Amino acid sequence: MSTAPAVQSNADSAAAPAIRVRGCRVHNLRNIDIDIPRDQMVVITGPSGSGKSSLAYDTLFAEGQRQYIESLGTYARQFLAQLERPDAESIDGLQPTISIDQRAGTANPRSTVATVTEIYDYLRLLFARVGDAYCYQCNRPISQQHPEQILEALLRLPEGTRLMLLAPLVRGRKGEHAEVFESIRKLGFVRARVNGQVYELDAVPALVRQKKHTIEAVVDRLIVREGIRPRLAESLHSTLHHGEGLAIAMHQPAGSAPEAWSDIVFSTEYACPECGISYEELEPRTFSFNSPYGACPACSGLGHRRAFDDELLAPDASLTLADGAIVPWRVAKAKNGNGRSFTCRASRLKPLTALAEAGNFTLDVPLESLKPKARGILWNGTDTVPGVLSLLEAEYATAKTDADRDALEPFRDDIPCAECHGARLRPEARSVRVGDRTIQQVTSLPVDQSSQFFSALQLTGDKQLIAAAPLREINSRLRFLHHVGLDYLTLDRAADTLSGGELQRVRLATGLGSALVGICYILDEPSIGLHPRDNQRLIAALRDLQQQGNTVLVVEHDEAVMRACDWLVDMGPGAGKHGGTVVAEGPPDAVSANDASITGRYLAGTTQIDLPAERRPVNPKRVLTLEGATCHNLKSVDVSVPLGVLTCVTGVSGSGKSSLFEETLARALARKLNGTGPRPGAHTGLRGVNLIDRFVQIDQTPIGRTPRSTPATYIGVFDEIRKVFAQTREARLRGFTASRFSFNVAEGRCSECQGQGQQRLEMNFLPDLYVECPACRGKRFNRQTLEIKYKDKSIADVLDLDIDEGIVFFENFPVIARMLACLADVGLGYLSLGQSCITLSGGEAQRIKLCAELGRSATGNTLYLLDEPTTGLHFDDVRRLLEVMQRLVTAGNTMIVIEHNLDVIKSADWIIDMGPEGGAGGGQILFAGMPEALAAEPSNNTGKFLAPLLQRP
Ligand code: ADP
Ligand code: ADP
Ligand code: ZN
Ligand code: ZN
Repeated sequence: MSTAPAVQSNADSAAAPAIRVRGCRVHNLRNIDIDIPRDQMVVITGPSGSGKSSLAYDTLFAEGQRQYIESLGTYARQFLAQLERPDAESIDGLQPTISIDQRAGTANPRSTVATVTEIYDYLRLLFARVGDAYCYQCNRPISQQHPEQILEALLRLPEGTRLMLLAPLVRGRKGEHAEVFESIRKLGFVRARVNGQVYELDAVPALVRQKKHTIEAVVDRLIVREGIRPRLAESLHSTLHHGEGLAIAMHQPAGSAPEAWSDIVFSTEYACPECGISYEELEPRTFSFNSPYGACPACSGLGHRRAFDDELLAPDASLTLADGAIVPWRVAKAKNGNGRSFTCRASRLKPLTALAEAGNFTLDVPLESLKPKARGILWNGTDTVPGVLSLLEAEYATAKTDADRDALEPFRDDIPCAECHGARLRPEARSVRVGDRTIQQVTSLPVDQSSQFFSALQLTGDKQLIAAAPLREINSRLRFLHHVGLDYLTLDRAADTLSGGELQRVRLATGLGSALVGICYILDEPSIGLHPRDNQRLIAALRDLQQQGNTVLVVEHDEAVMRACDWLVDMGPGAGKHGGTVVAEGPPDAVSANDASITGRYLAGTTQIDLPAERRPVNPKRVLTLEGATCHNLKSVDVSVPLGVLTCVTGVSGSGKSSLFEETLARALARKLNGTGPRPGAHTGLRGVNLIDRFVQIDQTPIGRTPRSTPATYIGVFDEIRKVFAQTREARLRGFTASRFSFNVAEGRCSECQGQGQQRLEMNFLPDLYVECPACRGKRFNRQTLEIKYKDKSIADVLDLDIDEGIVFFENFPVIARMLACLADVGLGYLSLGQSCITLSGGEAQRIKLCAELGRSATGNTLYLLDEPTTGLHFDDVRRLLEVMQRLVTAGNTMIVIEHNLDVIKSADWIIDMGPEGGAGGGQILFAGMPEALAAEPSNNTGKFLAPLLQRP
């Protein structure tokens, strides 16, 4: 790894270039002054809610954006919102800012790894300039020749070769074609070749009208010898003219048998000489699926089409149509039926009966016993009877409300385009090759294999020269993707299927590849999703970006990244109003020597997360077993998860953890327990489901889509708070019930904003902007409702409290206090009760879901699946999160956590380690057992990093 440049000591820092922030009061920041060294690698850390993002994003990035917009001309500015200056006295020395974030929402649904990294732009250039086109129908090479080149080729034929020049006039067309022969005669030619046979015009047999014929005019007959050049040139010119760019040279080598004629076809157009399919000149846009010149016309370049999917519609093939096999058409059945709990909706019986008649089947056999033909008719119908798929398509198209349409959405899926099979390009573009591969074959390779392809690529002459520049750009970007540990991603992988961490690292590679200088890059936890083994590669990539001459500002909790930076800023000491100050700053060593900093104490090892006193024993009879999983890279994996314990799933990025646990196990379980749901990845068996009652996946997807949902409404504590207000004397006098205090009910809320507290402004070119509602000034309720007070606070004042304050405020209401305490336990005490859920980060949303779960009366037989719950968490938050997780397991539940955080891994009862590599090199289970046993495996990557943490004093 590269060495860090020396850091100036405080004494002479006045001389060092720095970003100087004075008097900053953004969000919870307490009027802070801070100098951030420029052109260095800086890490901002601190507990969740301490103000890291407020400093990095809401102050520095926001100011950078504002300065950028100020620098644009007035014309451009009129389309952009007037961005507010962050609340600070001054911000000096800031460079242009670029944020490299994790949000998939900011990615275009058409984006792929290749387009995000601009590799695709250079690939398009490469294919347009040095690609060889082939006919998409007959696969013959397509080339364009200058008449001069054709002439030279003909003159190179051996002396004495007999030659006929033919101008193609009719190619495989039905008819008698009398007018064609007439025009040949008028042109002054005396012979024609008809269906391969040369005739004098008068001797041509009558053509059968219903058959297809091919007719060429014989323009000239010659023998190759000295001095024919002028005549040949003139005849060739005439042939190409009449043949509209095509000429056929029918020739017979001297001395060969009289019937040994063969054809050479020449074209001055970019066209297939055989099929006549003509190509436009290849340009970079020919290969763009975002352009009408390149996109597959059938799917407009999406590569797929959204449509109903029979498997999603009827996941349980043991049901009959009458018993409601088709999920959206089923209704619950009245009791005492035949034991089945569903029946088909009455209104859908008629079309189904019509289909059953057409397909000769009945409605009361299980779907799985229908013959393939009958099944085909059920879904696709016949010429006269519409099938279920088109009936649903019509239902979907004519849905009256969004809710009706949303209800059908889960049964639709992306079906690959029948024309391009997902390649997204028009047929011409799909058949151009470089180094014998088409562009879609190249982009379907993972990063490491495409590097190999390009380094093995042999081009000659001009092509080599032309390709040099695009190849250089492509190779450097591939190298950066490799550096950030993404070798296993294919270039055509859709950006919206990447995890947040993967997407951020793709963007980081793009930043590295763009070679900009003098930029302040801001990143948020780039280590997410990365195995400790690959941390050093990430650090080296960040270091590269800095050494290109940029400031790299990283919000991070990962110890290795903290230790590797030049300058560490520790925010805190607590969250929300207990934070907002700079607790310590300086080189990592200086911070770790600072006893006032919690981060410093963890770095120094004086504070740490304790190992669990003992590990829970695993009962080999109480396991959930999944067999034969083959989704994505999984190599027919069998896995057993012990129940009633905390299991941690580990392994390098791309090894198959999400494919196995989220895409296969979770979906298979949801289907078994609820009957419907998205299609699980392929597997052959699932056993032990009877041992659990419930399955809950707690992920980072946002909660609530409107500003009306808040942490308090989500976990249900707001219902209890409303009851408190309804019980006040004043409320009872006025007859206000608990619903009066809901912003989902018209009577009590502000009518202007319908209880949102905000109004949405639609912005040209920019995401919608929310501004405070002018009528209630953000309070969400109307005047009468706000007049009701409990302990001197209105319902709106209560929503302004943060959760820590709420615990004290409601101490006399144990139910409320307990629910709030749970949020505080997972490190969310700093959130305000009324903060809109749309402003929460993925990690915060995940922990709120966890709390909502804790609040339910647990069955003790629930299986939880969490994906990197430590996202956004500082050492000290991780400690508290672990306590909450252990509590759930102690109550008898099962927890599976996908994690890279070593403190979580060391606290697990059981570890399932996947690998050994990402992508094709992974997809196997390397280890399953107790942490101590994993640490004892010398060759295991996870074990190596885990071992030092398992030393018990
Ligand atoms: P960190 O990045 O350290 O987790 P943040 O900077 O996101 O912390 O938050 C610091 C404080 O500012 C918290 O109390 C948080 O609730 C508050 N805060 C964050 N975003 C907003 C916002 N958009 N409006 C009001 N308060 C906010
Ligand atoms: P992990 O969770 O361990 O990081 P994943 O299960 O996400 O690993 O990935 C395993 C392999 O499957 C990788 O090669 C990855 O590129 C591939 N993969 C994952 N999701 C998709 C997808 N939606 N489309 C195509 N390939 C995928
Ligand atoms: Zn062809
Ligand atoms: Zn298509």
